[in-house]
Amino acid sequence: MQSVQAITRAPSPPTTTLGYALFATRWLQAPLYFGLVAAQGVYVYKFFNELWALIVRCVTGQATETYVMLAVLKLVDVVMIANLLIMVIVGGYETFVSRIGLQGHRDQPEWLSHVNSNVLKVKLATAIVGISSVHLLQMFVDVHHTSRHSLLWGTVIHMAFIVSAAILAYMSGPMAAQAERAHQSSHQPQQSSHQPEQRHAAEDAPPGRAVIPAQREEVPSAEARLRAAGFPARKLLEDFDAEHPRSFDREAVARLGKLDFVVARRNVVFVGPPGTGKTHLAIGLGVRACQAGHRVLFATAGEWAARLAKAQADGRLGEELHRLDVYPLLIVDEVGYLPFDADTSQLFFRLVAHRYERGSLIVTGDRPLERWDEVFGGAAAPAMVDRLAHHAEVVRLEGDSYRMRRASSEWAG
Ligand code: ADP
Ligand code: MG
Repeated sequence: MQSVQAITRAPSPPTTTLGYALFATRWLQAPLYFGLVAAQGVYVYKFFNELWALIVRCVTGQATETYVMLAVLKLVDVVMIANLLIMVIVGGYETFVSRIGLQGHRDQPEWLSHVNSNVLKVKLATAIVGISSVHLLQMFVDVHHTSRHSLLWGTVIHMAFIVSAAILAYMSGPMAAQAERAHQSSHQPQQSSHQPEQRHAAEDAPPGRAVIPAQREEVPSAEARLRAAGFPARKLLEDFDAEHPRSFDREAVARLGKLDFVVARRNVVFVGPPGTGKTHLAIGLGVRACQAGHRVLFATAGEWAARLAKAQADGRLGEELHRLDVYPLLIVDEVGYLPFDADTSQLFFRLVAHRYERGSLIVTGDRPLERWDEVFGGAAAPAMVDRLAHHAEVVRLEGDSYRMRRASSEWAG
């Protein structure tokens, strides 16, 4: 283990204070982006101005068909420029100044997850082509009032935009592929069967393999989230043998693997006898969530009970529950192995009630929900199970213990 760390740390280049100071100057750019936000405000104003003029002319009957078309094109033009602006503002700030940390946000734009200066350039170029085609269209619609000279140059300039966008897109393709190849060969030379997002950080690097935390920033941060989550072992959904459990809802697990439940703040409950893979599946989902940018915290029900009891003893239970809000996903493993007294049950009730529609929980237990009153004493049990189950996907696992199967086949072999 130590040797891995030594290898990991060795290649980090010496960073000078001067270098840091230079790097810090990127913050000088921040006001520029806020300036662009103001510019966007100007466009909003302009949009409604145009819209108002259009409505007034339509109502007063002064609007010809050509006028309406031109006015609508102008509105489209304004919206497209505004789109371009937001792309430059958000993408540029994220790429060149600082991370905004939108991962997992409901409205996270699809393009932002793979934005880099290359992608941004291509997006800008295509947006400019879009804008110039609207302009050209405006000219053609109003062809009687456009000189041949402007028409000709409008077309030539539009072509030039198209050609430059095509060249940029072509160039960024091989560049991105090259970066990806370099990333793969340096980071994960052996794994092949996993999904792309599973490629990195899925398992601890075997001793002797150097991990170079460069090239893609998600790599160290996903790894950091995985480490902070406190999983007792790294288990992947891909390594779960769907044939083993006698009965289990494969589709439900595949669906859960897409992590929509985390975004929707819903819960997942795995129930089944020991050794059927409940913890495996809970960790598998947790690992995916970490890789998708969510913070996750894993502990057994007993550990959660101790943690919450301590917070309550210190008079900061409410504070602790709010602190846990930064984790979109909490995993409570092994409910049922030891029964809880009324006070501890009340703590779990507080946790579940607090998480309700605020965050997700994955809970694993050894018995069906109907029998959880055997585990949670006191009056809180039914209300807690109710809240937990209301927004929950309950996955039942049935079959023999996987541990026993392996043991017996090893015995036989
Ligand atoms: P439970 O939480 O139900 O007690 P675990 O998830 O701890 O069960 O499973 C026990 C061991 O068996 C773990 O090492 C787990 O990875 C493995 N295991 C269980 N079911 C499967 C399966 N279907 N495919 C692969 N490994 C499994
Ligand atoms: Mg378990």
